[in-house]
Order: sequence, then structure tokens, then C-alpha cells
Amino acid sequence: MARRPVIGIATQNLPGVVGERPPCWLMGHSYVEELRKVGAIPWLIPLLPHDPDTLQEIFRRLDGVFITGGVDVDPRSYGEEKTPWCGTTDPDRDAVEIALLRYALDHHLPVFAVCRGIQILNVACGGTLYQDVAMQVPAALKHDYFPTPQQPSRKYLAHDVAVQPGSRLRSILGECVVPVNSMHHQAIKSLAPNLRATAHAPDGIIEGVEGHGEHYLIGVQWHPEELTDTQPAMARLFTRFIDAARAA
Ligand code: MN
Repeated sequence: MARRPVIGIATQNLPGVVGERPPCWLMGHSYVEELRKVGAIPWLIPLLPHDPDTLQEIFRRLDGVFITGGVDVDPRSYGEEKTPWCGTTDPDRDAVEIALLRYALDHHLPVFAVCRGIQILNVACGGTLYQDVAMQVPAALKHDYFPTPQQPSRKYLAHDVAVQPGSRLRSILGECVVPVNSMHHQAIKSLAPNLRATAHAPDGIIEGVEGHGEHYLIGVQWHPEELTDTQPAMARLFTRFIDAARAA
């Protein structure tokens, strides 16, 4: 039987609350479960930016890298001051994910990045972000359909994305236009030079990126892990990624 590929997933800080819990590193179930279902061994990575030797030892054992959604990327990581409309940040997570992505780029490990993932991927490659799309792009559609107790669905299809012909994303998704969910208030501002934007919302916001060459590198701004049971194209984003990690 083929060896199951080991996929690294950086965690996120959950601050401690005296009397309730110590400081924790956490990750949402759905990302881990979707990877497990397609045959991966998901490996949650502790946030140890102060111990690069241990991080490198973890990275060396990986066959692929999955970057998940989460809190905002700290604007200092792309050379901007944090504005009041930037939300909660986790600089430890930024540092570990940037190190993880640079390792993956140097060693040609397959990468699949979702939501915050596409944003930190762009930052790791030298691009910048809108700290708040609604504030900085007034003509943009509403993208921040975050769940509420009244509207808890993470599956709500908020807008379409147009997928560029001839792109890797187009070959995976199999369609020129795909309806997606949208739970983000930040987005790519200036695109990193080594990335191609291959999917866009109708307002022009970048919703999908990929690498230029053979290296398997895909980022999407939506949350495909919530749509795999309703849209086969979203499930293919996971199976193709794991196929690439198995081959790497
Ligand atoms: Mn969107």
C-alpha cells in the first residue's frame, strides 16, 4: 500500500484564561477531517518561532503543506502599520507559517492554502493585503459573511468566482464560473511576483492563486472544506493536492 502523505498544518494561539485554561494551540476540525478523509496524515504544528531547529525537524518530515483560515495577518509582516480596521492577529502563527511556506517553496513541497492561507502565502512570497476590503475597496461586494447565531452556515454561497482558462485551478475545478462561500474581510492587495491570480470575484478581488511552474501551489480565498459534500469540484481541490503530495 502506498505511504500516506504527511501534511503539515500550523496551529493558532488561543490565549490562556486564569481559572479556565492554560495557553493553547488549536485548529478547526473540518480542515483536519477533510485531509484525513482523502488519505493524508494531518500533522498539527506547534507555534515555536523561537525554536527554528525544532521547526525545521518537523518540516523535514512533511510531504505537503496545508495553510488554513484564521485571524488576520499582522500588517507588519508586509511592511505596513496596523490600522484600527485590522482585526486580531497572531504574530507567532505568521512567523511559523511564513517559515513553513518558504521551506515548501525551497523544497517543492505541494501547497494548498485556504482563506487566511492565500493571504499569508501572498505575504510569504512578497505581496501585500487589504487590511479591510470594505474600508479600502468601497466598490467591492460584501465578502464578510461570517456565521452568526442567527445565520450559522459556513456553506452560504455568497458570490461566484471566474476561473482563468488554462490554469491549474480551472483544470481542477472543471468550470469557468464556480459559486463559493465567503468568510473574509481581508484579501490580496498587491500580488506577489511569483504567483498568478487565476480566480477572481465579480468585483475583481483575487480569490485564487497558483504558482507559475510545475510546483503544485494553490491558494483559494473561499472555504472549500465546507463544500466538499455539496460540490465535487471542491472535493477535487483536496484529492488533487493529496495526489501531488503522494507523488512529491
Ligand atoms: Mn470572497
